[in-house]
Amino acid sequence: MRAESYQRCIAPSCGREFGVREARTECECGNLLDVKYRGSYPKSLQDVFSRRSGHGNDIFNESGVWRYRELLNFADIDTEAHDQYSKVLVSLDGAEGRSRPYQMSKVAEFVGMEPENVLLQPEGLNPSGSFKDNGICSGLTHAKMLGVKEVVCASTGNTSASLAMYAANEMLKAVVYVPKGKVAPGKLQQAYQFGADVIEIEGSFDDALEIVLAKGRKGSYVMNSVNPFRLEGQKTIIYRALDYLEWEPPDWFVVPRGNMGNVSIFGKALAELHEWGWIKKIPRIALVDAQAVNTFHTLYNGLYDGFELRWNSGSVDDRMIERYYSDLHKKGAQRKTDASAIQIEKPVNIKKGLRSLEFTNGISTQVTDKEMYDGMAIVGKNGFDCELASGAVPAAIKNLVEKGVIRSDDRVVGILTGRLKDPEMIVRYHMDPNNRFANPPRSAVAG
Ligand SMILES: *Cc1c(COP(=O)(O)O)cnc(C)c1O
Ligand SMILES: [Zn+2]
Repeated sequence: MRAESYQRCIAPSCGREFGVREARTECECGNLLDVKYRGSYPKSLQDVFSRRSGHGNDIFNESGVWRYRELLNFADIDTEAHDQYSKVLVSLDGAEGRSRPYQMSKVAEFVGMEPENVLLQPEGLNPSGSFKDNGICSGLTHAKMLGVKEVVCASTGNTSASLAMYAANEMLKAVVYVPKGKVAPGKLQQAYQFGADVIEIEGSFDDALEIVLAKGRKGSYVMNSVNPFRLEGQKTIIYRALDYLEWEPPDWFVVPRGNMGNVSIFGKALAELHEWGWIKKIPRIALVDAQAVNTFHTLYNGLYDGFELRWNSGSVDDRMIERYYSDLHKKGAQRKTDASAIQIEKPVNIKKGLRSLEFTNGISTQVTDKEMYDGMAIVGKNGFDCELASGAVPAAIKNLVEKGVIRSDDRVVGILTGRLKDPEMIVRYHMDPNNRFANPPRSAVAG
């Protein structure tokens, strides 16, 4: 099955189109781009996907990204011709995307729901330890289509780890820009190990991304979530959850807010499935900010000048966003959360994210660092692990159940975005008996 695809500006007032062989980080009007597909997709593909899963004779059927290749076929492959698509698609031997939702009884108790109604999908099971692998394999597929030899990104740690890993496997050069002193050693270690060029920036992630976007305008291939081909791979996070639920949508998806790539593409994935008639009900998305760096929560919920920022059918009030950012700039001091993966002041996908929340009747909420720590610890009690930013998910579900926003008989799928790569952080938590789930060691003497 082949597909005709193109890129289109997200602003309805513009709508400019570009071919898929162009690498752009934005439209001429400055807005982001979507990958679009002509035609629609029959529900019978669901059977094709389930036949593929678990079959070890084709890494692209094992891959939890490329198993769904018909639904992100921007490379115009013949999806049934292994000899052909195996030369085009980028995969780490089929290892990416092997996650699905799990019940976690301790988390269910913590949030006050029945275990069968709260499911968590640990994207830390990906080879580099975060959901980023879902997107890097599709983004690199696009880079390879264009014959690119060098790829760049800015990163709070996990994007650089994932890009470095996939680039090494494809023998491409990865150049990663990171905010100096603000990346967990367990993430930075991966970039070194996999042979990326690491460039440290004095400043924040937002500053690093500005540098990378400027390089993108001069022709570098950018692998951040402004790249619509990277985001296409992240649609499969939603596909795997729905596939597991036999395409019966949950009431909620809950995900932390960083640069807003996930919320953007989750909305797009759900909108496409809805358009093709695969789902009738549209799950609501709950997006979770770290309270210490709560740009989106503030703007969305009218906590800045009483103005509620909305997609508004595509007429987003840019001036409000700019005014908020310039106020942040005037205040100077950078806001900080221990959850470094989501310490992002100016989410680059903010408009796409707004569009997703409009389509899904979504909400924006926030949690404190302390709540995230408890969330991370309670996931541990189920024998899984996740990093602090992902701990925001159980923490937010708990708060939303308490407030009655999530009803206790709703079904919720939370995305645990990454594996714990900062062991010192969780050790510190367990050593302090004041923490709710602390588990400090005791001493014993020999003999
Ligand atoms: C990148 C990252 C995020 C942020 O995701 P966005 O799609 O940028 O909002 C959250 N958690 C972890 C663990 C990450 O690595
Ligand atoms: Zn445009």
